[in-house]
Amino acid sequence: MQTQKKSTRPFDPQDTYPCPVCRTGQIATMPMMEALACNFCQHIFIASAEKQSLKMADRSPPVTWHWNGKQWIGAHLEGVEFGWAYFAAAIGLIFLPTTLLGLSAYYFPPVPGSRLSWLPSAWTGLAFLSHLGIVLWLVIEFYQFPLLTYFRAWGRRTARRAQMEIQRR
Ligand SMILES: [Zn+2]
Repeated sequence: MQTQKKSTRPFDPQDTYPCPVCRTGQIATMPMMEALACNFCQHIFIASAEKQSLKMADRSPPVTWHWNGKQWIGAHLEGVEFGWAYFAAAIGLIFLPTTLLGLSAYYFPPVPGSRLSWLPSAWTGLAFLSHLGIVLWLVIEFYQFPLLTYFRAWGRRTARRAQMEIQRR
């Protein structure tokens, strides 16, 4: 019983929590304010203790997370199983067009030495990269992992550290 109580706890706005956006910083209530802020990516959140939810206030459309007692669950992920069907579909989307193009290039080879003989293989490579890109983009959207925000915050932290190094000298 004791360990169970420790491992899960209800969300309390007075506490600090891991930031669901950058997964690096801590979010805590700002003094004299209702909102919470992250000390790493500096995003602002509005929390609701009765709904056990956290809403990103400085992004539109706002993203919502729910506290499950241990961690933040993205609204998109609620009730969604990231199953094998999605995985198979993603693999199919990447490899099916590539394979078809590759096979047609293999069975109907261009006339060697002709001006466009490089085209089928280049086209096959391009198809692979573009479909891989689509799948990666979908995964990032699905998990709501704001890559740009993360890299911006990381850059800011590195810059701040470098500045401190200079001041110390
Ligand atoms: Zn953050």
